[in-house]
Amino acid sequence: MSFAVRDPATGEVLDEVADAGPDEATAALDAAVDAQEAWAATPPRERAAVLLRTRDMLLTRIEEFALLITREMGKPLAESWAEVQYAADFLQWFAEEAVRISGEYRVSPGGDFRIVTTRQPVGPCLLISPWNFPLAMITRKLGPALAAGCTAVVKPAEDTPLSCLLLTQVLGEAGLPPGVVNVVTTSRPAPLVERLLADPRLRKLSFTGSTQVGRLLLAQAAGNVLRTSMELGGNAPFLVFADADLDAAVEGALLAKLRNGGQSCVAANRFLVEEPVAEEFATRFADRMSDVRLAPGTDPGSRLGPLINARQVERVAGLVDDAVTRGARVLTGGRAAGPYFPATALTDVPPSARIHHEEIFGPVAPITTFKDESDALAMANDTPYGLVAYLYTRDLGRAVRVGERLETGMVGLNRGLVSNAAAPFGGVKSSGLGREGGFEGIEEYLSTKYLALDLTS
Ligand code: NAD
Repeated sequence: MSFAVRDPATGEVLDEVADAGPDEATAALDAAVDAQEAWAATPPRERAAVLLRTRDMLLTRIEEFALLITREMGKPLAESWAEVQYAADFLQWFAEEAVRISGEYRVSPGGDFRIVTTRQPVGPCLLISPWNFPLAMITRKLGPALAAGCTAVVKPAEDTPLSCLLLTQVLGEAGLPPGVVNVVTTSRPAPLVERLLADPRLRKLSFTGSTQVGRLLLAQAAGNVLRTSMELGGNAPFLVFADADLDAAVEGALLAKLRNGGQSCVAANRFLVEEPVAEEFATRFADRMSDVRLAPGTDPGSRLGPLINARQVERVAGLVDDAVTRGARVLTGGRAAGPYFPATALTDVPPSARIHHEEIFGPVAPITTFKDESDALAMANDTPYGLVAYLYTRDLGRAVRVGERLETGMVGLNRGLVSNAAAPFGGVKSSGLGREGGFEGIEEYLSTKYLALDLTS
């Protein structure tokens, strides 16, 4: 059985891929389990070398990877190039981390024995990724898993499996032994994932996707007490204080809103602006949004591609209509055109509008005002999500005060982009558990083994 992968701009079938069921998933896990011992025993420098060769091959073939990402996911080519670079950065970063996995040698407080710790790979992992970054969300997991000495079953999103399949081919060419990484593509993820999570040989689940599915998988993972990492949804506030550099705030807002067409967990979801500068910010921002060119991602002039599918277009349009019905004003954009949704700015958005409470996942910016710092913080934290917040101010004291009190895992201070392979990416509250990237990223794939050493016999 197979299923079709389509270009979201044209609906054209790009390829057919295998439609795996639970039995194929178990066979993939068999292979990962068989390969686990030898991969864990492979010297760290050799594991790192495979990752570095793969990184080099991604960059040598950047044009091919970028075009594939654009064709299956829709984003403009320039953004796909940036994604390939970002994906390659994770391979490099974790190759560098592979040789620094360390333990401790300590004297027990009573002096009677030694406490020796070492770090071991957790074992075979299931890595599940979303469609919005078809390559980078995979290397952000595979990089640390392979560096730590874990084998994996990878399940890419059904909308965008092709970049992942090409990556796996390149990993093989870079010398990764068979069985270490096993990809299963499926149009029916639920039964396949459920089978794997119930298998006691699986030791870890790393999931990136919606909070709704994340919750479901956490419950299933409880059966075998699996290690879990969860990178879930967000509802990022973008705070602009009256003392901010407004030029920088507008640039940051465009980046935080339009990167990936707004289809990103770290996309700014609510624009909260201090009253004295609200009108000026809204006017300047809407003016820039109205210039954003909609075109297929393969068109070199495209700044905004199609949304991933018709369901998403309908959802985004529904959120805009709801806000307008409740009194919001459309400054620019506002109406879908086929698979496209234009860059849209809304003002006077009442707190009750659904758009304030749901993840938009589209190029729509609702703007609201606040009175003072405490008002801003209360509004920013009024959400079950806690992934990232953006904060524009020139007052250092306020930056630290507000930065510390925002209930998020990450804060962009006078910056509209926080993602970097060297930084710990992740959320609090319903946005997830664990961190990807940074020094923390590899920890998710290691467990500490403690040896109590008695020196007396
Ligand atoms: P999704 O939750 O629908 O799907 C994510 C993955 O889970 C896909 O591979 C899908 O096939 C699989 N899946 C779906 N239903 C399943 C089920 N019942 N059982 C097992 N697997 C299932 O999310 P999506 O629409 O692909 O991605 C968008 C979401 O991902 C957004 O909420 C976004 O915020 C989130 N996201 C988070 C991060 C982060 O790092 N925090 C990064 C990117 C995307």
